Amino acid sequence: MGFIFAPPPQAVLPIAGEPEALFPLRRVFLIGHNYAAHNKELGAPDDPVIFLKPVDAVVPVPEGQLADIPYPPMSQNFQHEIELVVALRAGGRNISEAQAAECIYGYAVGIDFTRRDWHFTMRDKGQPWEKGKTCDAALPVTAVRKAEDVGSIEDLQIWLDVNGVRKQEGSTAQMMHSAAKLIAHLSTFWELKAGDIVFTGTPKGVGPVQVGDVLQGGIDKVGSIYARII
Ligand code: MN
Repeated sequence: MGFIFAPPPQAVLPIAGEPEALFPLRRVFLIGHNYAAHNKELGAPDDPVIFLKPVDAVVPVPEGQLADIPYPPMSQNFQHEIELVVALRAGGRNISEAQAAECIYGYAVGIDFTRRDWHFTMRDKGQPWEKGKTCDAALPVTAVRKAEDVGSIEDLQIWLDVNGVRKQEGSTAQMMHSAAKLIAHLSTFWELKAGDIVFTGTPKGVGPVQVGDVLQGGIDKVGSIYARII
């Protein structure tokens, strides 16, 4: 028995400090509305929103490299959201926060690019967000840094500059729901498995990008990400 066409390659992320190892990706969960100050700017509820993006939207960005992100079709308002990404080495159903913490392999820096025009249109119609949230190459993500090398993630600075100007700035201390709490919550809806990653929401300061813009973002102790809009 053979495939009728070549199967897609396994999506992966590099691992910081482990040039011979790769993190195989399974699913990409994303959390909306996890920073109170960002909720104010989008007029969002306090309850975290969960959505998914296809794994082939992930663009791995090895340390020190620049990712080219194409401006997507069907948008005049393409926006950046810098986020802490949690990578799971195990999972389960209905796991506790303590068990969730044990499931974390490491952390990465990601940008959840969004067609904000379609995001708001679909939100306001009460329809699914995919036209706004899902586009090709929408998710640049750095190498995964192992949890033991990062240590506590309770108060890490997170920022994003566009063309050298600071646009987003916050701390993971402003997250309304911790990474462990989010993972435990996700596991009540889905059986989580190794290779799943979770974007944990963005701090205030989201805004539009244009072709030619260069973005530099980072999270203390986790890493830096570089992207250019083409
Ligand atoms: Mn987001």
